[in-house]
Amino acid sequence: MGALEVREGFIELYGAEPEGVWAAPGRVNLIGEHTDYNDGFVMPFALPHVTTAAVARRDDGVLRLHSADMPGGPVELRLDELAPESDRGWTAYPAGVVWALREAGHEVTGADVHLTSTVPTGAGLSSSAALEVVVALALNDLYALGLKGWRLARLCQRAENVYVGAPTGIMDQTASACCEAGHALFLDTRDLSQRQIPFDLAAEGLRLLVVDTRVEHAHSGGEYGRRRAGCEKGAALLGVDALRDIPHDGLDAALADLAGDEEVARLVRHVVTENARAERVVSLLESGDIRAIGPILTEGHASLRDDFRVSCPELDLVVDTALASGALGARMTGGGFGGSAIVLTDTADVPTLTKAMEEAFTKAAHTPPRVFEAVPAAGARRLA
Ligand code: ADP
Ligand code: MG
Repeated sequence: MGALEVREGFIELYGAEPEGVWAAPGRVNLIGEHTDYNDGFVMPFALPHVTTAAVARRDDGVLRLHSADMPGGPVELRLDELAPESDRGWTAYPAGVVWALREAGHEVTGADVHLTSTVPTGAGLSSSAALEVVVALALNDLYALGLKGWRLARLCQRAENVYVGAPTGIMDQTASACCEAGHALFLDTRDLSQRQIPFDLAAEGLRLLVVDTRVEHAHSGGEYGRRRAGCEKGAALLGVDALRDIPHDGLDAALADLAGDEEVARLVRHVVTENARAERVVSLLESGDIRAIGPILTEGHASLRDDFRVSCPELDLVVDTALASGALGARMTGGGFGGSAIVLTDTADVPTLTKAMEEAFTKAAHTPPRVFEAVPAAGARRLA
């Protein structure tokens, strides 16, 4: 959906011109899963799929929100009535951003917003962060708030954590706000320091496929909270601030200390080995050896399946089928319990692999997956 169409949609809805049009992408995470609430490393890159917003300011304390992807006309909210966890619908995400901006002392006096999106929702590709970041960026520009990069991301995370009431780490919003085309973003979630890592798949004759299992991860909230609490318990038992502080060569000693608590030990093993995998992937990419990251992605999947236990049969089927069809590596991406997997493969193997995936899903009587190629794209930006 181009900027022009979104602008026209805005005019039709609100009977006036928007002041501008902005876009923010969804993301996939290459490696570093369930590490972002353990002060660890993540490495997302932005998708070409974006949420686009046409926005105009208002000065009467009213927020009007409309999404082309949702039924019904614009929803009208009063800014002075916005309250955390008061809204269970989609409008909580953009309203939460406005609430968080105002909470942080920024003077936002209202807005009309019209949204469209090509980011699949609930597929683990972070449509929620794309939605938050596009609204935050638009208001930042229109109200000249001077927020950029990680500051904008932090604010959006606060909207999702506090206003929506969904406990999530900082990765998704930072990816949507800060990614650059042709790069993956190596993010240290402890201090939010970032490095853009060149990730030019095509130049190496490689492709990265995203396979959306169509299994919605919507009901994973309780499981997510339980994993998170388990990690916090592990850190407390080991006497560290966060599991990030356990070095890979200290893992055996840590596991020995946790011998009485099998569940916590498994969670700790995943987080510590996953941070090490993220660091290995970064050094391989920086030395130009993209092919060599394949087995590390696959190891990461095994760890999420067996130790962290957040995979599901459909995600495992994607990974097993991909590897059996010659892929270099594959793993689930995002929080798990559904959503999407990524597959690193030689370009020449893409048709065989896609066909094998369809056949495997048909045979298992699962809904056919959606397969698309992910080319690392740009982060949030103004379009018009
Ligand atoms: P994910 O971020 O993995 O896509 P979430 O459950 O975190 O999944 O967020 C999905 C929710 O975000 C949707 O259920 C909806 O409430 C909201 N959302 C995302 N994109 C849009 C959109 N284009 N229009 C309206 N709501 C959206
Ligand atoms: Mg989300």
